[in-house]
This record gives sequence, structure tokens and C-alpha cells, in this order.
Amino acid sequence: MARIPEEIIDEVRQSNDVVEVLGQYLSLKKTGSTYKALCPFHQERTPSFVVTPVKQIWHCFGCGKGGNVISFLMEHDKVSFIEALRTLAKRANITLPSSDGYKEGAHDLLYQANEFAAKFFQERLTSGIGTGAREYLKNRGVSDQSIEFFRLGYAPNAWEDLLKEAGKQGLSLPLLKEAGLIVARDEGTGYYDRFRHRIIFPIFSLSGRVIGFGGRSLEQNPQAKYLNSPETPIYHKGRGFYGFCQAKSPVQDAGKAILVEGNFDLIIPYQHGFKHILATSGTALTPDQARLLSRYAKQAVVCYDPDPAGQNATDRAIPLLLEAGIDVKVAVLPPEMDPDLAIRREGEQAFAAIIESAITFIEFKVMRARLMSDLSQVADKSALVNNLLNLLALVSDPVKRRLYIKELAEAAGLDESFILELARKKEGFKPEGNGQDVPQNNKPDWEGEILSILLRRPENISTILPELSVQGLASSRLIGLLKKLGAIYQDTGRLDGAGLIMKFEDREEQSLLSGSLVHKELPDDSLDSADNDTQLLSDYLIKLRKQNLKPRLKDIQQELKLAEKAGDSILVAKLLRQYQELSSGNSGNKTE
Ligand SMILES: [Zn+2]
Repeated sequence: MARIPEEIIDEVRQSNDVVEVLGQYLSLKKTGSTYKALCPFHQERTPSFVVTPVKQIWHCFGCGKGGNVISFLMEHDKVSFIEALRTLAKRANITLPSSDGYKEGAHDLLYQANEFAAKFFQERLTSGIGTGAREYLKNRGVSDQSIEFFRLGYAPNAWEDLLKEAGKQGLSLPLLKEAGLIVARDEGTGYYDRFRHRIIFPIFSLSGRVIGFGGRSLEQNPQAKYLNSPETPIYHKGRGFYGFCQAKSPVQDAGKAILVEGNFDLIIPYQHGFKHILATSGTALTPDQARLLSRYAKQAVVCYDPDPAGQNATDRAIPLLLEAGIDVKVAVLPPEMDPDLAIRREGEQAFAAIIESAITFIEFKVMRARLMSDLSQVADKSALVNNLLNLLALVSDPVKRRLYIKELAEAAGLDESFILELARKKEGFKPEGNGQDVPQNNKPDWEGEILSILLRRPENISTILPELSVQGLASSRLIGLLKKLGAIYQDTGRLDGAGLIMKFEDREEQSLLSGSLVHKELPDDSLDSADNDTQLLSDYLIKLRKQNLKPRLKDIQQELKLAEKAGDSILVAKLLRQYQELSSGNSGNKTE
């Protein structure tokens, strides 16, 4: 079996939401930002099976199994990785390459039709017929390089241009219609081109295939300035971003994204070096988009138009991003500006400054409330605080939530303890069940604690690993796992989520990982998390040492007694040395 490209595996995983898929098998109950269910893999009466949508993973604290959406299907249906992948690909209408390298599946023709159309539009833009369109793009500051990179095109001002060309290539009418490229005439006879006299922006899948188009009219007074492909079996509005295929790596590298509305708002900044940028293009931000983004970045700067529509869209995007675990900031553009204009008129440095000085979502809400109400009035102020607390309830990370509360107190000019008091009274605002009501093993799991901190702070792996490798201190499984994680971190500079789990084929390793990714979040009162983690790490090492060394020391004592009885002074000396080394806790420095 030929190996399936990682990009496609990623695409399959990301197109199958863990909650949606597992929800078909289990009855999931929402508790805060996670879901719980009775575990399908062991007998239980109280649920210890947890699904975390933000991280797209699941874990059972009863039997210890866990993983991502693919491993769930493997475990549940007792099927191989490939079989699970096929099922999920089918569910998401994604075509997997088959073993002989040829594409298979019902949607191949659709991809072909889209690719044909993309080439057709590109060719029309460069031909004589596209002179006006090229002029337009030039006036809007789009470079030739960008035209090529984003594969921009032109749909001519004609009714059957694409239709006829497609016919010559042997593409059938029903196929073109299914791809959304042509529209049936009202009279019921024949078809015409959907996109006419428009600049064409191809929309790509994560793996770079053309799945649809957006078109910007070149008419003076168009009926619709922008027109998108309709929903087709391979194109779903609001599932991806415009530009995601191109900006994916920059977003991942930066760990953050600039969110804009329109196609030009993306292309122009991208062209000027702002490559970690995504456009919602044609829809308001959807929960799917927020979730998708959260797998690549933990911070977003929303940079929508300063007009009321843009500001309302910003307002609606904030809770979706927070719920997906993304820190939200809002860029404040001067009136009548958008990112495209800001760069072209004010220059890239001015735009960089606008992004740099983005305000927090709390400041944004306060700013809006000031415009729409009178914050010197108690009622208005308390409505704002209430509103913001509802937003903060969506933040699942307790440390972040505390920071936000502090900020909220400052912004509202109220005492932090007063806000905390209000927060405590609020429904859904408790530090939720990060496994407290989950059955505990009799032995505390210090290895798991250490692993979960190292997943948060992978930069510590290289220093902790030698300490853990000391004889008997940590299990060989943890050591092996950390070695792999250390290598991945060195390679990619990051460790997180369901994508990470995919890199581990061993199901036990997957379960260990999901366990540490799901249930361990920082204690509620730890504000300074980095320092706190360092402290916790050394505490846990001491605890692990105590836990694991006690039995080892007992063994040595036994052996010592025997050696003394036998009069073996060399062995006695050796055992004594070992005992001292182990019990003094600095055995890591010796190599014997
Ligand atoms: Zn279980």
C-alpha cells in the first residue's frame, strides 16, 4: 500500500470533528468546554470518558485509552488505520489516493472540473480578453507574483465561454453543473456560465486542490459584487478559510493569525510580508473555522472593516474564537479603511503598527459599550460586566481566565475580588471537571503529571530527560515517549493536539498522550504559569523519585543483608554506594 500523504491524513482528520463523529457512537454530554460519556471500551456506571473538542482528542480515565478521531474508529470498529481513514475520508467526501497511485472515488471528476476551470480562468486573464481585468488588478496593487501564487483568473464577459471550452475537453454538462460552474437556464433549456466578467479567486483545499471559486464583479453597478461557488460535494462554505492553503505554514510558524474579511484584504497584506493571514471571505466566522484555526494558532488578531457591519462581525467572532481556545485581539483600523487600503495608502509599517497595537477583546467590548451605552450608569456597567463574564465562561484555561478577570476588573474600574465573586455565582463558570470526579488510581500518576507539563513546556524535555533516565526513576515507556517528543519538538518547534497523536503509531503511547493532553490543566490559582510549571516539574520529580525509589531502596536493603551474611565485602560496598546515591537524589550525575 502506497503511503498516504500526511497532508491528506491531516485533511481527513480535520474534516471529521471528534465530537460529531464520536457523537454518532456515544451519547455525549456537554460539561463546560468538554464532553463526557460512558466509556465504550470498559464497563462503567459513571462516565470517565472525556472528549475535548478544542484539542480534538478523547481519553478515558477509567481504562486509560485515548487518542484522536482516527484512533477512536480503529479501537471501536476494530479496524486498521487505513480502514478507519477510508471511513472518515468518505464521511468528509475526501478522495484518498489508492494503492496504484491513481485517484479513486466519486469526486475525482469534480476536482478535475475545478482544476480545468482554474486553468481556463488563469489563461483568460493572461490573454487579450483579460487586458481590462489585468489593469484592474494592477490598480488594486496586486503583483504578477501574487496573481500566479493565488492562481487568480478572469471569467470573460460572455455566457458560454467556459461551457464551450469544457465541452471540447469532454467535461459533461451535469458534471459542470455539479461543480457549480454553470447554471441551468430558467426556460429549462441549456446552461450558461456562472461566473461572468469577474476576477476569479480559486478556493483551495488544505492539500492545495481547487474546490471552488470566488468572483469579484468588474461591472460598474453589479447585482452582486462578490459571488462564490455554491455548496458542492467538495466545497462547503464556512468550513475553511480563503488563503488557508497558502498561509497554513506561516500561521503555524507564527502561532497566530490575522483574520480579515475579503480576498484583497488577504492578498495585499500577504504580498507585503504579512503571511500569517486568513480570510473568512463570504461568510461570518463559523465555529468550524474557529476550530480549524485553533489547531494551527493560539492567537488571532481580528482585523475587519471599521464600519458597523465589520464591527458586528468582530463581535460575533470573539466568542467563537474564545471557545476554540484562541486568544483574541482586535485591530482598530482608521475609519473608512480596510487592511487592503491601509497597506496601499499608509504603507506596510503603518499596517504592522495597527496589528501590533491591537486591543484585547475586553478592551474592544468596553469600547463598544462606551459607544452604545453610558458606563457611568450602574445598570449599563453591570450589563457590560455580565456580558463579559459570559464570554469568559467560554475560556477553558483557568489561568487565562484569571488573567482576563484581572483585565476586566481594571477595564471596568471594579475590584478584582468583586468580579471573582460574581464569576463564582455564575452558572457554567466553575473550574470544570478536569478529571476530579473521575476514578483515581490508588497510585498518584506523577509520570502523567510530568508528561502533561512537558507537553505544555516542551523546551524542558531535553533537560528533564537525563534526570528521568536515572535507573528506575521513570518507566521505559515514558522515557521512550519523551525521546520521540523531544525529537518532534526539535524538528517542528511545537507539540500539541490531535496532530501530535498521529505521529505515534503505538496505541499505548497514544493513550498516554491523550491522557496528559486532556485532563491536566493548570491549577486555578497559578497566575505565573511558566514559573509555576518549573516549580511543579521539580516537585513532581521529587515525588516520582520517592514513589519509585522506595521499592528500589527496599530491595537494596534486602540484598545488603544477604551480602553481609555471605561476607561479600565488595558487594556490600557497592550496594551501600548505590543506596546512598539513590537516596541522596543526585544519582543523575554518576555514570556507572
Ligand atoms: Zn474506558
